[in-house]
This record gives sequence, C-alpha cells and structure tokens, in this order.
Amino acid sequence: MRDLILSHEPAIRVSFFVGVLVLMALWEALAPCRRAPLGRWARWPSNLGIVALNTVLVRLLLPTTAVALAMVGEREGWGFLHHAGLPGWLALTLAVIALDLVVYLQHVMVHAIPALWRLHRVHHADLHFDVTTGARFHPIEILLSMLIKLAAILVIGPSPAAVVVFEVLLNATAMFNHGNVRIPAAVDRWLRWVVVTPDMHRVHHSVEDDETNSNFGFNLPWWDRLFGTYRDQPRGGQSGMTIGIHGFRDPRQVDRLPGMLALPFLGKVTDYVINRRQWAQPEAGRE
Ligand SMILES: [Zn+2]
Ligand SMILES: [Zn+2]
Repeated sequence: MRDLILSHEPAIRVSFFVGVLVLMALWEALAPCRRAPLGRWARWPSNLGIVALNTVLVRLLLPTTAVALAMVGEREGWGFLHHAGLPGWLALTLAVIALDLVVYLQHVMVHAIPALWRLHRVHHADLHFDVTTGARFHPIEILLSMLIKLAAILVIGPSPAAVVVFEVLLNATAMFNHGNVRIPAAVDRWLRWVVVTPDMHRVHHSVEDDETNSNFGFNLPWWDRLFGTYRDQPRGGQSGMTIGIHGFRDPRQVDRLPGMLALPFLGKVTDYVINRRQWAQPEAGRE
C-alpha cells in the first residue's frame, strides 16, 4: 500500500490538478464573475510556467516529499497523532484540519513579515483573479512552504494517506476559490461555511490593504471567523473591486515570468513593514 501511494502520488496529484484546472476553466468561460483585463494568453503561460518551474525545483532541491516523510514518521512513531490512539478516520480528519490551520497561520505570517510579503506578493500581483492565480507562487515561497509543511508533519504525525488527501484537497480548493466564476449569493452564503469560496477569497486579492489582510484561509473557512480576519465582501463589490497590488500595475512585469521571479527583489524591504503601513483613513460610518 505504501509503495502504491508513493509511486502513484505524482500521478494522483497531476490528474487532480489538470482535472480541476479544466473544469474551472470551463466554468470561468461559461459564467465569469468579472471581465478579464488581459487575455488568457497574456497570463496563463507565465502562471502555469511558474507552477512547472516550482514542481521541478521542489523535486531537485528537497531531499524528501511530504508523503515520504509521513511514511517514515509512521514507521518511527514521530508526531502527536501516532500516539493518540484514535480510530483511523478520526486521525485522518484531525490531521487534515491541523495541516490546514498551519497553512492559515503561514499565510498570515507571510503577510505580516515584510521580507516574506515580498515573496508572497507574486501571488497577489496578478492583475486578474482566476484559476491559475491559485497556483502562482514564487519558488522561494514554495520551498519555504514545503519546509514548514515537513516540520508540521513531524509534529502532527499524519498518516501518508492523510497527507495525500490534504495535498490533493488543498490544491483543488485553491483552484476552486481563485475561480473567476459566478455563484448565486444565496449558495455562496451557505457554501462559505464549509469551504473558502471564490467570493470570499477574492476579497483577499483586493488592492486595498485592509481587504488584502482578510480571509487568509485557502481551504477551510473557519480560521478567519475564529481568529477575527474574516471579511464578508469588498467595499467596491465583487465586480467593481480592483485586483492586485498598489504600485505594481504593469502587466509586462507582474504577468510575465521574468518579472514575476524578480518581484521579491524590487523596492526597499521596509516598504510594507506592518507597523509603518499606510492604512486608509476610516470613513465616517465605516467600521
Ligand atoms: Zn495572501
Ligand atoms: Zn489567493
């Protein structure tokens, strides 16, 4: 079973990635939420190119994969869940929830620490918000995420199956909640209690600082409500809001691969320090 998971894990992940990508692309074509400022040919080669680059770099630079580490952890008894004596289904559920909490905390961290925000702004600088935005991250942020995930696996002790479920689920939900798709408001209101919806995550891609620093969840929507970072809607409305980052509006820079890779190294590190940030003045009547 272990060998089966290990040998098929890349195939499982690629199939889900391509499957969800195609489904979301069709949905975006049939019922888009916003008009795209740039065509797919202007953004998709770079957004998907950085995914391919990241996949190769992670395989080359890291000595193990998350699943392989979970297998060693299971054999050696590393991590809390291997000692909790829980039924398999409960341990798997708790592992997925705990790993998702780590991703939420990591996401808050990369917004709060200026040097890490420089890496993470590659994800936010996209001028449009669609299924490919969900996969575009700077290679250094991907490597950092992998190291954090490996450390979390050592502490939490998920089974290899839990890691595969988590990775496939997170990948699928990240592509879903970056979709430029229209979901009826009544359905969205219900759906965002179980999963982060496109309308919920789109708020996070606003150019407005207070909106960007909201809705950090990528998969489960509960963390934002629990920890106080939840925001229902953008002030400009889902179709009227501006997507991206102030000061990075040139498509040749933010939606071309060389420009995206260079993005973390532009400007001063203090540009976005959390305690010097230029917050918008609250208007009367606004919270
Ligand atoms: Zn973010
Ligand atoms: Zn996002």
